[in-house]
Amino acid sequence: MILPKSTRLAPEQVAEITAIVGEFGCSIQPIVGAVRTIYAIVGDERDELMINRLEGLDYVERIDRIQSPFKLMDRRSDLATHRIKIGGVTLGEDLAIIAGQCTIDPKNPNFFLETAAAVKEAGAHVLRGGVWKPRTNPYTFQGDNKSIEILMEASRQTGLPVDAEVMDEEQLKMALDAGVHMLQVGARNALNYSLLRSIGRAVAKRDTVVLLKRSMHMGSLSEFISAAEYIAAFGNPNVVLCPRGTAPTLDGYRCHPDESITPLLKEKTWAPVIVDPSHSVGKAAYVPACALAAIAYGADGLCIEAHVSPSHGIGDDPKQALTPAVLAETIAQARQIWALRHSAVAGS
Ligand code: PEP
Ligand code: MN
Repeated sequence: MILPKSTRLAPEQVAEITAIVGEFGCSIQPIVGAVRTIYAIVGDERDELMINRLEGLDYVERIDRIQSPFKLMDRRSDLATHRIKIGGVTLGEDLAIIAGQCTIDPKNPNFFLETAAAVKEAGAHVLRGGVWKPRTNPYTFQGDNKSIEILMEASRQTGLPVDAEVMDEEQLKMALDAGVHMLQVGARNALNYSLLRSIGRAVAKRDTVVLLKRSMHMGSLSEFISAAEYIAAFGNPNVVLCPRGTAPTLDGYRCHPDESITPLLKEKTWAPVIVDPSHSVGKAAYVPACALAAIAYGADGLCIEAHVSPSHGIGDDPKQALTPAVLAETIAQARQIWALRHSAVAGS
């Protein structure tokens, strides 16, 4: 919909916009109001270049799009009935829990193997473990290729599918070759469009699930969903959105908690939402409340950092990881909120 700056466009201006949209297979339909005439774009109005050219005209106030820019991830798309399954859970139907260490310590693999067993016992469906880590400080531990073996050994021992972050094509290939079930796109790479494309291409003919974190600097909902569209566009729609807190922070929390984003996302996309409370609030003591709030807001699941002995962990684990006992309690409470939410919906 083209909204002009004036009450109606001059004939030569209508001719100009008609010519522009015509190049993209669209036409113009004026809608004459009492005070103002607006101009509907008839046809597929999703071409970014067409919109940019129209927005560049000095007599155009703005363009309001009726169609969503994301063809596949839109809640009105044919894919809306697609269901993603992992770890025995169908996302959206049952509460899904991803849990495990921020970082696998290759020098102490037993911690990870014990954590894996403990998170399974606590009720997790997917085991997370950081093999390669995006660290702000270049002198801190960056991860280790060897940890992929530890991750897969933990998967074998527990029977849980595993989630690991990949930051480049080399790691992507190693993770897929090893059999990682869920690839995590971290907050720092959430807008790395070449990586999103590479992941989309690599998972196209697999049943791999991609956990797409929300960038901490990410603005709009559309930006987040469009990042998911980049992956799905290659043919695998198993993309899960993962809000994890944004900048600027609330004093005391690592990031600004964004778990309240879920209802807004659900209005636009069918993609499941799994909230990561650990990176959002950044401190173990605050994680349970954030996790429960996320479920109350409608999240389909949680991604929580946990460790059998947080003080012996590396990366974020010493400050963020829940102990297995707190994780079990948080999952139990999250299930109660999930049940309440579903009974409330059924009763309304
Ligand atoms: C992580 O999951 O350990 C991580 C680094 O997350 P994020 O990309 O959300 O910071
Ligand atoms: Mn972490």
